[in-house]
Amino acid sequence: MKKLLILGAGTAGTMMLNKLDKKLDKKEWEITIIDKDDTHYYQPGFLFIPFGIYKPKDVVKSRKEFFPAGTHFIIDEVDKINGDDNKVILKSGEVLTYDVLIVATGTTPVPSETEGLMGPLWYKDIFDFYTFEGASLLAKKLENWKGGKLVINLAETTIKCPVAPLEFAFLADAYFTEKGIRDKVEINYVTPLSGAFTKPIATKMLSQLMEKKNIHVVPDFYLEHVDNDLKKIVSYDGMEVEFDLLVSIPTNMGADMVANSNMSDEDDLNFIPTNKETLQHKQHENIFVIGDATNLPTSKAGSVTHFEGEILIENILSFINGKPLEAKFDGHANCFIETGFGKAALIDFNYTTEPLPGQFPIPVLGPMGLLKETRINHMGKLAFKWIYWHMLLTGKSLPVSTNMSMTGKKAPKKEENKEKEEPQQEEVLL
Ligand SMILES: Cc1cc2nc3c(=O)[nH]c(=O)nc-3n(C[C@H](O)[C@H](O)[C@H](O)COP(=O)(O)OP(=O)(O)OC[C@H]3O[C@@H](n4cnc5c(N)ncnc54)[C@H](O)[C@@H]3O)c2cc1C
Repeated sequence: MKKLLILGAGTAGTMMLNKLDKKLDKKEWEITIIDKDDTHYYQPGFLFIPFGIYKPKDVVKSRKEFFPAGTHFIIDEVDKINGDDNKVILKSGEVLTYDVLIVATGTTPVPSETEGLMGPLWYKDIFDFYTFEGASLLAKKLENWKGGKLVINLAETTIKCPVAPLEFAFLADAYFTEKGIRDKVEINYVTPLSGAFTKPIATKMLSQLMEKKNIHVVPDFYLEHVDNDLKKIVSYDGMEVEFDLLVSIPTNMGADMVANSNMSDEDDLNFIPTNKETLQHKQHENIFVIGDATNLPTSKAGSVTHFEGEILIENILSFINGKPLEAKFDGHANCFIETGFGKAALIDFNYTTEPLPGQFPIPVLGPMGLLKETRINHMGKLAFKWIYWHMLLTGKSLPVSTNMSMTGKKAPKKEENKEKEEPQQEEVLL
């Protein structure tokens, strides 16, 4: 019997398990999946918990609920991969062998990486919302908060769902407005990026939106430490921003076992060097990497994981059958950006094409608008939860092309055409 191991039963691991279960001959292949526990969180839902839109219970299910019958599931922590010997060593001491290995161990926030972040104010006036615990405690804090300086701070640039902090800022604006205390809350968005987002056209749109909502952006801020006594964050070059309530997006890192296995990337953030097209590990041809665990230059997002999965299933089957890996991932990412008051924007991009305005997925008809705040985008964002549990995790195909399509997108117009375009641009906040 040949062995296929999947490390991590989150979004990517569960999805690949379901895809492989349908494709591999069970008389020939034994599939085993490993995770630390049996709790699957719908992480995109963490964004909504602080504002009471979702309750904590809305985002939690048993991992087993999404496994095909008869799945071999080991609850343990992976300590190390020995890629030369095709072995995985678990914390319990158990040693597993494999013919093919899929690493899907994701990324987690590591607040201990920043001095003072987990100081006396942690979970009193300093919170994260990238964890179930952080989002749940922040909900309680916001319920009774009377206002002051709210600082949303990204400790690093490489984080999962890079639009979630922006969404948090927009939802905070709406939440305090609806509570009638927006005039008592100063919202500062403090980021190491040079603007609200990474790509120029989306940054322009999002910066305008921030300005309109009176959210102050502090760019180029590289967090050095958090001063708990004086309640301020301090950058490496001595910039200081005071807070009454700090919502931090701590450094995101890949699993410790990546470092234990000497597989970490150059940044030492424990992301795994991965072939950006085939998703094969750069050193070991029978190891494949998917989801947030990779070092690929695209967003770390569930949507990306889905597109990667469509490519990876083809390439694993090719590998098993001794054929060349012909399926190529183009870095496709598709993210809704919740903007508050029942609206959202949408971005769709890949390794080479930045988010552009237009209609998605059908030209003219849409129904979703790219880089446009609309109600239907918001409905799409909310529908993602159902899609996640029922289609994405279960490995079903979604009605969105795997590789990014230019259909419906408007390439940027030249400067001289700008004036002519303006009348039709009311909603396209560019
Ligand atoms: C606040 C927030 C909002 C988000 N919003 C969106 C959104 O709107 N749209 C979107 O597409 N994406 C969104 N995402 C991102 C999305 O959730 C992730 O990109 C996706 O879950 C990545 O899947 P993954 O399988 O790579 O990692 P995960 O789903 O995190 O799974 C990794 C698994 O590996 C396990 N693991 C790690 N180390 C070990 C070990 N040593 N031994 C055993 N098991 C281990 C973990 O326990 C975990 O279960 C959001 C994320 C957050 C935090």
